[in-house]
Amino acid sequence: MPFNELRKDFLLDRWVVIATERARRPMDFAKQKKEQAQGSVCPMCPGNEHMTPPAVLLYLRSDGEIVKDRDTASLRHKNWVIRCVPNLYPAFAPPKEQLDQVDIMKSDTFGLAVGHHEVLVESPKHDEHPATADLPQLVHVINAYVDRLQELSQKPYVRYVQIFRNHGQEAGASLSHAHSQIIATPFVPPTVDAEIRASRNFLSHHGKCAFCDLMKREEKGPRMIKDDEHFMVLAPYASVNPMEFWIIPKKHDANPLSLTAVETEAFAKTLKATLKGLKDLVNDPPYNYGIHLSLEEQAKKSYHWHLEVYPVLAIWAGFEKSTGVYINTVPPETAAAELGKAMTT
Ligand SMILES: [Zn+2]
Ligand SMILES: [Zn+2]
Ligand SMILES: [Zn+2]
Repeated sequence: MPFNELRKDFLLDRWVVIATERARRPMDFAKQKKEQAQGSVCPMCPGNEHMTPPAVLLYLRSDGEIVKDRDTASLRHKNWVIRCVPNLYPAFAPPKEQLDQVDIMKSDTFGLAVGHHEVLVESPKHDEHPATADLPQLVHVINAYVDRLQELSQKPYVRYVQIFRNHGQEAGASLSHAHSQIIATPFVPPTVDAEIRASRNFLSHHGKCAFCDLMKREEKGPRMIKDDEHFMVLAPYASVNPMEFWIIPKKHDANPLSLTAVETEAFAKTLKATLKGLKDLVNDPPYNYGIHLSLEEQAKKSYHWHLEVYPVLAIWAGFEKSTGVYINTVPPETAAAELGKAMTT
């Protein structure tokens, strides 16, 4: 009797059951759209700037150029194309006075949730979506990610900056206006930390970067989705989420701070093409994405930043929650083939 496959993540010590025996087609997940509750005022729409704290970063249009600025307590700029504001209910909040690491992480099991939590409004248009946005607007979004990463990573109490996006209510987006979030933390979160450690290990054993090596190995394989001069998209061998894919830059770097204008545009194109493929294939499913990066000097050679997209198509239940072992009912090879097909039609 044939078995399902047990696969282990490239870097993480995490097992997944790939349900080849009862595999589902990506289209099986397509749902009828529920009517979203309408009628409440959107705090992110133009004209409602007073409903949020003052923006910490604005891209403003001025004589056909983009200029960067910020709000003050008394002035809320209008005519913005990108607006980044502190979250009204931050998970991590900035310190009132200068704090050292020791004042923050008080013991191995107790610390203060010091940091930043920001909302990046991706467009003045409420219903914008990376899958359908104009390319120049998506380029602004990525530039703004990098600008915030640059500023937040300088803070003495910040060890990590997580840039992420929730799309759709089931993926945790409580407001439907196109937005991303940025959370700066005083420690490196465990998943990223595990990847950083594993890739450091890989470098010391094999003398090369795990992700550069991975791209070489997957280049012509069945999990490759999209490949050009600047980025490769692939469905990871042991993905835990049905239809999960990663966007990996060809240029080795631990974080996206050194992205050139050409690379930024290529990134925007890749992000748009893949998210549009997903949207077309599975009827605009909810998803989360997050950028994994390192700000540590000693990870520069070993770690390689990337963006991971997690479609929300499965409910993790008793087995997953109690064991940390996941069951994925869409083999990554099927995900890659179907997504690749959806992107060309
Ligand atoms: Zn809105
Ligand atoms: Zn690399
Ligand atoms: Zn990762």
